[in-house]
Amino acid sequence: KAKNVEQPEFIQAVTEVLQSLEPVIEAHPEYEAASLLERIVEPERVIMFRVPWVDDAGKVQVNRGFRVQFNSAIGPYKGGLRLHPSVNLGIIKFLGFEQIFKNSLTTLPMGGGKGGCDFDPKGKSDMEVMRFCQAFMTELARHIGADTDVPAGDIGTGAREIGYMFGQYKKIKNVFEGVLTGKGLSFGGSLARTEATGYGLVYIVEEYLRCHDDSFEGKTVCVSGSGNVAIYATQKAQQLGAKVVTVSDSTGWVYDPAGIDVDLLKQVKEVERARLTEYAARREGVEYHEGRGVWVTPCDIALPCATQNEVLIDDVKALVANGCKILAEGANMPTTLDATEYLQEQGVVFIPGKAANAGGVATSGLEMSQNSERLSWTFEEVDAKLKGIMVSIYHAIDDAAKHYGHEGNYVMGANIAGFEKVANAMMAQGIV
Ligand code: NDP
Repeated sequence: KAKNVEQPEFIQAVTEVLQSLEPVIEAHPEYEAASLLERIVEPERVIMFRVPWVDDAGKVQVNRGFRVQFNSAIGPYKGGLRLHPSVNLGIIKFLGFEQIFKNSLTTLPMGGGKGGCDFDPKGKSDMEVMRFCQAFMTELARHIGADTDVPAGDIGTGAREIGYMFGQYKKIKNVFEGVLTGKGLSFGGSLARTEATGYGLVYIVEEYLRCHDDSFEGKTVCVSGSGNVAIYATQKAQQLGAKVVTVSDSTGWVYDPAGIDVDLLKQVKEVERARLTEYAARREGVEYHEGRGVWVTPCDIALPCATQNEVLIDDVKALVANGCKILAEGANMPTTLDATEYLQEQGVVFIPGKAANAGGVATSGLEMSQNSERLSWTFEEVDAKLKGIMVSIYHAIDDAAKHYGHEGNYVMGANIAGFEKVANAMMAQGIV
């Protein structure tokens, strides 16, 4: 902790993982001799850099960029780039650390990394976003590559930003390779990548329900966020017969008792890049509330899909009191540690983000495979592989929890199942 002061999110993520690995460490004394845990919590490499760019008024703006190359034991570093004013080293380290285990769970050969910048894309013109992305990539290009480190999207980094970054990488390196995922379909992107995280989240819950003779049919679902993950989780849950009654953004939230109109939501958020007040203004019977508060809405299933630490202890008390039976994390670490413990004590099924939202990076892995093959698979092929991966993740975390005597504890199951493969690879590769 002393080495990582002012990195509370990183400490939170490490604490949760290390606590749940205790039975594995006891079973493997050789890990201690090799200081495996001390090594795994230390990134292999941290890059911090200046990002100077010129705004539309001709003024020079300076942001701080990050790439944390956390662990390459099982494959090239892989993880998204977050563009948000809250980005700092601790947040990128927490995300990179989680990514190691998430990527391992997908069964694909990907190490863990994460990056980003404290740039705020909101309110910027298209040309400003382009100049920023070019400046960011001008430095990042020297650290990444199709077999070294393959960044992707995250909060604030969508298809537009990936396109600008890819263009700049190609110009600097003079090589056309799958160095980024989430690319446009005409230059190496994968069908179904846009939908993958949200769909994958719903697929893993569907598999849990199927194994318990249940389904999404007739369920009421609360979703938070209204970005990439939230939109496609809403769409898939409704395709499977559920009714999603909430979405939110950082200023407010919507209650739509008839079920979210996904086409309208996509028009407002993806096409117009507008706020949810626009959604509420254009649809009958919708309530709009300022501030946070999604979780006071009664539901069977809660899917937080906005950001870290957005589900607090009072939120989960309200969820439990209103009969919520399942919470699966679409966002990374949306639930605080005490809220997670409360849900588990109350018998609510809790599926942590590193398993539940792994569909995004899994499909990024499939994009890497298609780029290496120079082939494009159909939407149906990618979607079927995604579903297969989410089903296998559910069983991997369920089996790991059972194996160590903690049936139904998917936090332990996910951490253990993700850790074991990375630990074996690190042990085999010596002290490096
Ligand atoms: P987007 O930028 O598309 O959407 C983010 C959503 O969350 C927006 O509705 C945004 O509202 C809201 N939000 C962001 N920050 C805050 C905040 N501080 N307080 C309240 N609301 C906030 O991002 P994604 O949908 O891609 O990502 C959402 C989460 O899912 C993140 O935790 C991300 O790391 C995780 N994730 C994403 C993957 C992907 O493939 N996209 C893969 C795996 C995990 P507003 O518009 O007002 O900012």
